[in-house]
Amino acid sequence: MSELRKDPIIGRWVIIATDRGKRPTDFVSTEPFGGPASCPFCEGNEFMTPPEIYSVRDKDSLANAKGWNIRVVPNKFPALRIEGTVQREGVGMFDKMSGIGAHEVIIETPDHTDLLHKRTPERIVELLDTYQKRTNDLKLDKRLIYAMIFKNEGERAGASLTHPHSQIIATPIVPKRVKEEIDGSLEYYGYKMRCVFCDIIQEEKRFGTRIIYENVSFISFCPFASRFPFEIWLLPKRHMSGFSTLTRQEMFELSDCLSVTMRRLAISLGEPQYNWMLHTEPIGTVPRNPWPDIGEHYHWHFEIIPKLTRVAGFEWGTGFYINPTPPEDAAEFLRSVDIE
Ligand SMILES: [Zn+2]
Ligand SMILES: [Zn+2]
Ligand SMILES: [Zn+2]
Repeated sequence: MSELRKDPIIGRWVIIATDRGKRPTDFVSTEPFGGPASCPFCEGNEFMTPPEIYSVRDKDSLANAKGWNIRVVPNKFPALRIEGTVQREGVGMFDKMSGIGAHEVIIETPDHTDLLHKRTPERIVELLDTYQKRTNDLKLDKRLIYAMIFKNEGERAGASLTHPHSQIIATPIVPKRVKEEIDGSLEYYGYKMRCVFCDIIQEEKRFGTRIIYENVSFISFCPFASRFPFEIWLLPKRHMSGFSTLTRQEMFELSDCLSVTMRRLAISLGEPQYNWMLHTEPIGTVPRNPWPDIGEHYHWHFEIIPKLTRVAGFEWGTGFYINPTPPEDAAEFLRSVDIE
């Protein structure tokens, strides 16, 4: 059974995930990325995963059989488990909590090599719609406070299988990075009465040098204080604190913005491995809610981090990042490639 443990100095929770230690790929450094025959996410191998929770599939197909575009299954080696109650406990001066949560895998495509930037915008809409449906479903579980959607593309980005997939981990607490962002946006709102993300979008449009792409509803750019080379943020232009309130029309616009941005990244840097994270408002009621006006000051977004450098001693030791590529240069390079 996993558990959550709190660092008493900076208040960061850590998941001590005992179950995941059993993952064979953690210990084997041979080609862990077997081909389609041994891949549990490939079409025809549905029996190799736990039963699906949700799928986008042909009308006349059966659950857990062929004929799907997207499948959502519980993670076979979950960091957190859905069964049980959230129990808090003190161990001497330390705080811990039972490892309750949800850990789902979104298998984005039946095809092993169908990377996101190769897919049609319609297929990307199906993925975004799945993100939204799963988030809304997890919202019904009152024990869960936050749902983080993320994607690890490639071994260096932390993936243990190459088959394109995303994950959702829902937790009974708000993760520290998210809390810092929401606190920061509240502080800005406190003296300007404006959303800091909306102000950033205005500023990026005024300069233009860091923009990668924009359409009617979305914009992608390399942020001013990028931590990593080719770091990308992607935001809705309309102020909205939660991803779950995205309309169908906006989903098509988002798909277009993601598609163009990811194609530019793939073509300019040769399909780099990357992580993306979807930062949005909490799904549950935060105890002693410090952000009653979150709808006013927080603004959901994607952060996309290509794995081009490694985080090393200085970064671990200080929280500072050394980025060798100015975001203005990165954005110019991404804009300049021909994606047709
Ligand atoms: Zn596969
Ligand atoms: Zn905003
Ligand atoms: Zn963020």
